[in-house]
Amino acid sequence: MFNLILFGPPGSGKGTQSDRLVEKYGLIHLSTGNLLREEIANKTPLGKEAKKFIDHGQLVPDEVVIGMVDSFFDRHKNVNGFLFDGFPRTVAQAQALDKLLALKKTDIASVLALEVTEQELINRLLNRGKTSGRSDDNSEDVIRKRFIVYTNETSPVADYYKKARKFKAIHGEGSVDEINAALRQAIDKAMANHKD
Ligand code: AMP
Repeated sequence: MFNLILFGPPGSGKGTQSDRLVEKYGLIHLSTGNLLREEIANKTPLGKEAKKFIDHGQLVPDEVVIGMVDSFFDRHKNVNGFLFDGFPRTVAQAQALDKLLALKKTDIASVLALEVTEQELINRLLNRGKTSGRSDDNSEDVIRKRFIVYTNETSPVADYYKKARKFKAIHGEGSVDEINAALRQAIDKAMANHKD
């Protein structure tokens, strides 16, 4: 298996790039944000609980997200690999992911981090809010809260993968095609070096 994490702050383009990359490389897209929004749309108990956190720009508790990923794995066996988008967002989630992948006798091959300036991120998110229907993209206050959460809780995940020598920064500004080309170059290199 070849498992990849697309890492980066809210609005850095993870979702847009993931859609293209899963098609190109035949990977399964695992976006915890999308899974949570599905739960909310289906008005499940998990969705109702998660909405309270999402609407305030806070992270959904680790055990909820990890449980959701575990059950996603149960539903997707014998696959080429996963592209994780918006997960892991805490060091505890990264550790849990390592354990779940070890049970499958596999690991994370590479973490590609999209780097975008904060002003550009805010502009992108406010623009997306006009059409996405996402409650958490409409308010600049909630967007700023999400950045604070990213700095405090999610950026340590970068250090976790830097220590494991799996982390690579990618310039996340420019056209979608340019960024996609930079990502593909990094993935092709990681695939060439990966034995699993
Ligand atoms: P996203 O679509 O990835 O930007 O996620 C939207 C919101 O869902 C986030 O602001 C969090 O409230 C929640 N969320 C998504 N993924 C996670 C995760 N891995 N851990 C905790 N909360 C998450």
